[in-house]
Amino acid sequence: MSELRFDIGLFAFGIAIAALLLGARSRTPNSFGRALPSWAAAVVALAAGGFLIALGSGPGSASATLAGKSLVAAAHAAFVHALLLALGRRPGWAGLCALLVPVALVFGLSLALVMRHPEAPLRSGLLSLLMAGYAGAAIVALAADGASASRSTRVALLIAFSIAGSAHLVRAMIAIDFPELEARWPTATHDLLLVSTLAMVGASVAFALAASHRTQDDILALANRDELTGIPNRRAFNRIGERLLERCRRQNQPISALVIDIDHFKRINDQFGHAEGDRVLVRVAGAIAAAVSSDGIVARVGGEEFFALLPDRTLTEARETAERVRGYVASLPGMGGPGLVTVSVGVAASDPTDLDLEALVERADAALLAAKSAGRNRTVVAPTGGAVPSHRLLSRTQVR
Ligand code: GH3
Ligand code: MG
Ligand code: MG
Repeated sequence: MSELRFDIGLFAFGIAIAALLLGARSRTPNSFGRALPSWAAAVVALAAGGFLIALGSGPGSASATLAGKSLVAAAHAAFVHALLLALGRRPGWAGLCALLVPVALVFGLSLALVMRHPEAPLRSGLLSLLMAGYAGAAIVALAADGASASRSTRVALLIAFSIAGSAHLVRAMIAIDFPELEARWPTATHDLLLVSTLAMVGASVAFALAASHRTQDDILALANRDELTGIPNRRAFNRIGERLLERCRRQNQPISALVIDIDHFKRINDQFGHAEGDRVLVRVAGAIAAAVSSDGIVARVGGEEFFALLPDRTLTEARETAERVRGYVASLPGMGGPGLVTVSVGVAASDPTDLDLEALVERADAALLAAKSAGRNRTVVAPTGGAVPSHRLLSRTQVR
């Protein structure tokens, strides 16, 4: 009786976990959110199956035991389905049906056996083997996953599925091959089922955490990325830039900044429309990122303005990069041919007077203003040594 009470408790616990998972769905707008109903259904099936098995543990209740074990096996199929969904595999309903077919087959086979030989003890080794197989499939899917789940939750899920899979495998071996072991360990079947059930409770916690981690990562990515171009935004530039500046200062390495602005962008919008203007912004962002190609950062910080921070690059190297940016942008296809979209670039390298990132960028911005007033489509380099009024700007380079 106490065993049944325990199983009723586990059943209630399962329902509570399933309700929590379903409740989190609307706040999880990603593949994990789409997988939550499947995982919740699996938890309910697992809890109900365990309950049925406990109910049927008396003599002559082979059918209840079989139904319970089949439900537990179906739960494992649903766990795999949910996991595949969460990891972005999109198995769909057809995938779920394919996963459930082996359960139905083994259930049918075992039922036929029970009907024909009601006296014979039911050896449900096949169902246990099937569950071990599902756990194995989950382990393979998790091991092959790149970064859908955070590292800690992936490891936790791997451990949980390994424990559950091993418990099922031992149960299958006892049922199929070592009935004498069952004689020495009479509660083996129940104990191992309990181990696998608790492992899946742990897996459910890990899955809920994985869903939450993914949502937090998505929010962080949204907060740091420019929506239109997909490159970092000003917030990300400031955060990463401060870190790069600090690193270069510590290692006594140079660091340079570029401020890049599209020339007469308003005209492009007026002439070709806002949508085409947007496409130009995307292409220019790509061209700048390709031209900079370093461990630095390129960000869109305003309408048609971009910042780039180039660690370990001297002023001369930074100017070369700026010229490459101009060249890449000028050769962009579309917009009635190359050369119609141009940029002006201001360049500055860090010196002891730059107390922070803002001071460095301000000097590059002053250089950009000088490039604009000198006729645009050019690179202007700010001299090192303090804030720069535009009349002190060092060199001007015009390519075309
Ligand atoms: P300058 O050479 O002096 O930089 O001239 P400009 O026309 O590029 O600069 P201005 O600041 O006068 O105009 C910038 C334009 O950029 C105005 C604004 O409508 C446009 N813009 C800002 N954000 C976006 C955007 O997200 N998409 C599009 N299509 N246009 C934008
Ligand atoms: Mg502009
Ligand atoms: Mg501008």
